Amino acid sequence: MPLKLYNTLTREREVFAPLDERNVRLYVCGPTVYDFAHIGNARPLIVFDVLYRLLREKYGADHVTYVRNITDVDDKINARAAERGITIRQLTEETNRVFQQDVAALGCLPPSVQPRATEHIAEMIAIIERLIARGHAYAADGHVLFDVPSMPDYGALSRRPLDDMIAGARVEVAPYKKGEMDFVLWKPSKEGEPGWDSPWGFGRPGWHIECSAMSHKHLGEVFDIHGGGIDLVFPHHENEIAQTRCAFGHNIMAKVWMHNGFLQVEGEKMSKSLGNFITIHDLLHSDKFGGKAWRGEVLRLAMLRAHYRQPIDWTVKALDEAEKTLSRWYGILRAHGVTADSAREAPLRAAFVEALCDDLNIPRAMADLHAMAGKAEPREEDSQTAKAEAEKLARAAGLLGLLEGDPAAWAHKSPELKVEAAEVEKLVAERLAARKAKNFAESDRLRDLLAGMGVKLKDGKDKATGEPTTEWEAAG
Ligand SMILES: [Zn+2]
Repeated sequence: MPLKLYNTLTREREVFAPLDERNVRLYVCGPTVYDFAHIGNARPLIVFDVLYRLLREKYGADHVTYVRNITDVDDKINARAAERGITIRQLTEETNRVFQQDVAALGCLPPSVQPRATEHIAEMIAIIERLIARGHAYAADGHVLFDVPSMPDYGALSRRPLDDMIAGARVEVAPYKKGEMDFVLWKPSKEGEPGWDSPWGFGRPGWHIECSAMSHKHLGEVFDIHGGGIDLVFPHHENEIAQTRCAFGHNIMAKVWMHNGFLQVEGEKMSKSLGNFITIHDLLHSDKFGGKAWRGEVLRLAMLRAHYRQPIDWTVKALDEAEKTLSRWYGILRAHGVTADSAREAPLRAAFVEALCDDLNIPRAMADLHAMAGKAEPREEDSQTAKAEAEKLARAAGLLGLLEGDPAAWAHKSPELKVEAAEVEKLVAERLAARKAKNFAESDRLRDLLAGMGVKLKDGKDKATGEPTTEWEAAG
């Protein structure tokens, strides 16, 4: 069955033909690790995980390479670390640790490689040098800029009018810029800022060059699919294309460009100022949205109910419905003694695969799962047929990363707050250190974080030394 994917580059649905069937290569822009990932960030993680699973099914698990980067050098990281009075390394390590827990809870398979920007500085410098040598970049005043007019078909992905692109690119009018749309490949670092030695002085990379360097290193000069959120089309993906194509002289960087749609919360744009900013961590571990903590699988199913290219409205109602659906489906598996493992050899229904191969039409695939669940309801007569349907249900749902859990765990209605004691101990110790350093903003932040995990703190003083102490217990 041919796989058809919508290609943002051509604005068409195309039959997907990999460059090399033995190594299908997918790149997705990963997180900038300065703060917990929000639910909008969860969408590409889940969507492209489904694509990864489908490609593995089609070409074999060992014949797909999925690269998702970690941006661990960025001005937002520097600012946040300074604000919290911790080192950049502490911030990026802590944020990445929580990110990895979040994506695992969402049922996403680990990518083949998760390269970190700070471990690819030499590769970035090498590409920048190539761009300068080929006349596509220039050094000026400690900076290196990409010379946009040197690429006649710049802007082919976003197809924005020139004025729009100029307005979008003109973050600052800098004397070292030759053209208004030229963008930064390298910039100087001041003392105290992270930086590396380079032919242009001590400095750090711009954001876009990271993805060109990491995709090149792990996937080559041209690869199959590049994915990300629709908000990345301009300028990030446009600039990745400019860098990679001009450095290596190909007319494409990736054959197919895929973008997931926006996410809103209860009909409104998500923003810190509107107070509807929800992190994955909060959804999993606090009762801030809908009065309870949600299982990762519920978040996943709720996210998959809309077509990936359409906008999605994130609502408590959708979470409730997703939870009911999963509860019912797991109940069916329990009744038949079926698990994801035992259903591994069950056949995949053609209609289900056809829906997924139709530009990941997951809503249609979901309707098919509901139909299978209907036929799998346990019944006295013909229980073997019902069991076979339950196996088909588990097998198909697995392709969406669903029903892979222990059906017995779903016998209880709502999940326990799941907090590892070691995790709590670590955060309590970090908070104590912040209190001792009189970093009260950090101490308050950690107290709120722990409260969200259902942990109550009791602060005191050591009678002998006068040093601050903290005891903790699980609240309620
Ligand atoms: Zn990127």
